[in-house]
Parts: sequence; C-alpha cells; structure tokens
Amino acid sequence: MNDATSLATSYDVAIIGGGNAALCAAMTAAETGASVLILETAPKPYRGGNSRHTRNFRCMHSGPLGPLVEDYSEDEYLADLMKVTGGKTDEHLARLAIRSSEECLPWMQDHGVHFQPSLSGTLSLARTNAFFMGGGKSLVNAYYRTAQKLGVDVLYEAHVTHLELNDNHIDWIDYTHDRADHRVTAKSVIVASGGFQADTDWLTRAWGPAAQNFLIRGTPYNRGVVLADLLDQDVDSVGDPTQCHAVAIDGRAPKFDGGIVTRLDCVPFSIVVNKNAERFYDEGEDVWPKRYAIWGRLVAGQPDQVGYVIIDAKSLDLFMPSVFPPLKSDTLEGLAAEMGLPADKLRTTVDTFNAACGDTSKFHPTELDGVTTTGLTPAKTNWARPITEPPFYGYSLRTGVTFTYLGLKVDENAQCSTPSGPIKNLWAAGETMAGSILGQGYLAGFGMTIGTVFGRIAGREAAAYAN
Ligand SMILES: Cc1cc2nc3c(=O)[nH]c(=O)nc-3n(C[C@H](O)[C@H](O)[C@H](O)COP(=O)(O)OP(=O)(O)OC[C@H]3O[C@@H](n4cnc5c(N)ncnc54)[C@H](O)[C@@H]3O)c2cc1C
Repeated sequence: MNDATSLATSYDVAIIGGGNAALCAAMTAAETGASVLILETAPKPYRGGNSRHTRNFRCMHSGPLGPLVEDYSEDEYLADLMKVTGGKTDEHLARLAIRSSEECLPWMQDHGVHFQPSLSGTLSLARTNAFFMGGGKSLVNAYYRTAQKLGVDVLYEAHVTHLELNDNHIDWIDYTHDRADHRVTAKSVIVASGGFQADTDWLTRAWGPAAQNFLIRGTPYNRGVVLADLLDQDVDSVGDPTQCHAVAIDGRAPKFDGGIVTRLDCVPFSIVVNKNAERFYDEGEDVWPKRYAIWGRLVAGQPDQVGYVIIDAKSLDLFMPSVFPPLKSDTLEGLAAEMGLPADKLRTTVDTFNAACGDTSKFHPTELDGVTTTGLTPAKTNWARPITEPPFYGYSLRTGVTFTYLGLKVDENAQCSTPSGPIKNLWAAGETMAGSILGQGYLAGFGMTIGTVFGRIAGREAAAYAN
C-alpha cells in the first residue's frame, strides 16, 4: 500500500474516511488517472469503520446475478424500502441507489469482493441480499488491496478536523497526525466519514441523558467531527438527530464495536420486561427480521434504557445461540435475583402472562402462528406460550445504535451545497449522507448499497472536476 508516510502537498482528490464509501470513491477516482489520498482516522488494524462489520449488500437484479437467485425489481425494492421508512424516503435518490445497485455487484467482484453462495433456508434473503465471503472485513481488505494497486495514498491515524469553506469552495483540509497539525490541499474533496453515533455528547444533546446508556454497535471513530465542522459552516444538512438505526442487543456487549454477534434473536419466544419487571410491548408482533430494528427504540424508552428477556427451557433452542450465555436459574425468583429484578413483581408478571395464554397446539416458531394471549395488555399476538418449564433463562437488553441519519444533504451527483448553491468541489458518500435518502427506518443491506452507489458517483464526479 501506499501507506503514506510522506504525502504529496496536493492531490486531485482527497477522501475523508476509510470505509466502504471512501474506498469505492477512491478506486473510481484513481481509475480515471486522478491522484487520490485517503485520510483515515483509525489505526490500520481498525480501518474500515462500520463497513468491516457488515455481512451483505441489497441488490436489485432482473435475473439471477452472482449469488442472487430469481429477480428483485426496482419497484419491489422500493416498495420494501417505503414500507420500513413509512414513506419517509427521497424517492428520486432511492430509485437511483436501487437502479445502480445492479451494476455494483459485478463491479464489486471486479474490485476483489467474493460473494458466498446463497444461503439455503433463508429464501427471501437469497433473492435480495448478497453476502460477502469473509464478511465486511474481507471486503474492506480487498478494496484496500485494489486501491493500493491503483496507486491510492492512505494515511492512517489522520484525524480530519476542519475543511476550510470559502465562496462555496473547499480551500484546504486540516488534520492531526502523529501529534502534530497538518494541512493538505486537493482539487476535489469527498466526505465519507460516517455518522456521529460514537459521540455520546452529541447523542445526549439529541436524546437527553438516556443516550449515556446506549451502546454503539460499530466503530468508535465515527464521531461526526467533519459533519459538525461542515454544519457549523452552513453546509446544507438533512435529517433529525434522533433518527438512527438502532437495535436491542445483549446488555453485556462492549460500549463500541461489539458488531453483529451481540444481536439477540430470542425476543419472539420470550416475554420482555423493564427494570420494574413490567412488560411493555408485544414481543410476537411479527417475525423477527421485520421487527428487530424497532426494539432499539423500545428499550430506549424504558427506565434506565434497559430491558430483560425471559424465556424457559422449551424455547432455548429456537433461536441462534448468543455469544454470551444467558443467565440461568431453576426458579423464576432465582433468575430475578441474578438479573437484579424485583422477584415478586416478576412472578406476578409471569403468572399473569401465563394465565392469558391459551391453546398452544398450533405453535410454529418460524411462522406467524396466531398463538396469542387473551385479555392481556400489551398482548403477545404470536408464539405466546406459558413460561413454566425450568430452567429459566434471561438476557439483559440495551439499545445498540448502528448509525445516525442526520447528515449532509446531497443531490443525485452526491454533491454538497450551502443555501447559496452547490459547493464546487465537495461531495459526500455513505452514512454521512444516508439521511438524504432515509428519513427513518432501515432496510437490511441498504447501508452498503448507499455507500457503494454514492461512493462511486462521488469518485466519478470528484475526478471529473479535478481533471
Ligand atoms: C454491526 C453492524 C453490522 C452492519 N451490517 C450491515 C450489513 O450487513 N449490510 C449493510 O448494508 N449495512 C450494514 N451495516 C451498516 C453499514 O456498516 C454502514 O451503512 C456502512 O458501512 C457505512 O459505510 P461508510 O463508508 O459510510 O462508513 P464507515 O464504514 O463507518 O467508514 C467511515 C470512516 O470514516 C473514518 N472517520 C470518521 N471520522 C473521521 C475523521 N474525522 N477523519 C478521518 N476519518 C474519519 C472512520 O474511521 C471510518 O473509517 C452494519 C453496521 C454495523 C455497526
């Protein structure tokens, strides 16, 4: 790699960030012959931001494509997106991302990404989401290798602090490296430095003190430093600071970078209570892939932003094993003690729930089975079986933020603007502009679609401007 130790004083294209969006932009720009610099704040072993945690990419296709079976049309993809965002989607940019995703898959393969054969048993995903062989870490490593061959310079531990904006033009980039301040100029600049989810103070300003209890599923480096700097200079933004992708994860996950393994899939077979041992939502509302993303917010709304999942022995084998073993006791009271829950109250909640369960003969763990409670608030509308069979198991849940949506507003050329018009030499790609498309909600695999499509567009436009 041109792991740059000495940099040129000026580049055609400088890119801030070192994840998927940055790398797609860098390779695209370098292929036109432009000189390209990546400034990545993370040390090399942690390069690749949230992208290194990913597993798949959602892709439109009009017939079998790579590992993807059958077809997935633009309209079906858009309808799926509209459903999860409740229509809060920029349709023009969404269609652009969706339509372009089809040509991205072979492009990704050409740039070193390998895909796994489609997963049996998950038919809908085999049609819609292409899984990376070796996960996001392999994808990121492959892209760095390709960027190296294309002559891209990469400087790690280069923390960008400021882009100097004058008359809708970025004049220079300030960054720190090796405990010193530095400045570099570039004809074109691309921001691909993610959301601000790792800045707890910013999350706290948006969410209040509750945010102190959130866990961040990905990189600690996406702190929104460049985003804040640009917003301070009146660059157009989009989105609401409380909107984000958040899921409920194992409460024992680390504060940062726990990644995909801290997810828990047991909620549909459980009851979930808050710290007062009270249920607060229908655990069986829908199949888990359609509901997992609402539980981050549900837990965020509970006292101390914590939830507790309770299951019994008959449900333990119905979901993917957790990375940390569950707490376990032969009695509910024992489990309550281990989990720090009021034992009497938990006993009452479980007894009331059990009494509201009816005929369970139609229980079916992988389908909406209609096995529901009667006369209970909130109801559990599927998979409602009494919790009676010891041992009893429990997990704590916390809100795990994936990425925030407040970001830079871009047009179909990924170009940024101020109220007085386009910024001549500034583009944005990936999480930092995802709010331009997503107003709320999330469709699995769409983050990598946005980053790949808009990374390539930004790279193309930035190189064209520089040349
Ligand atoms: C656990 C987990 C699983 C996920 N799974 C999937 C999935 O399977 N499919 C999917 O589509 N999406 C998934 N996502 C979302 C996905 O990771 C993001 O949408 C996508 O990776 C964003 O890419 P990006 O390049 O914009 O940001 P990132 O990959 O996060 O890259 C941002 C980069 O900017 C750098 N940076 C930040 N600030 C600065 C600064 N001031 N100066 C210099 N550099 C800076 C960071 O170090 C980082 O390298 C997942 C996210 C997580 C956390």
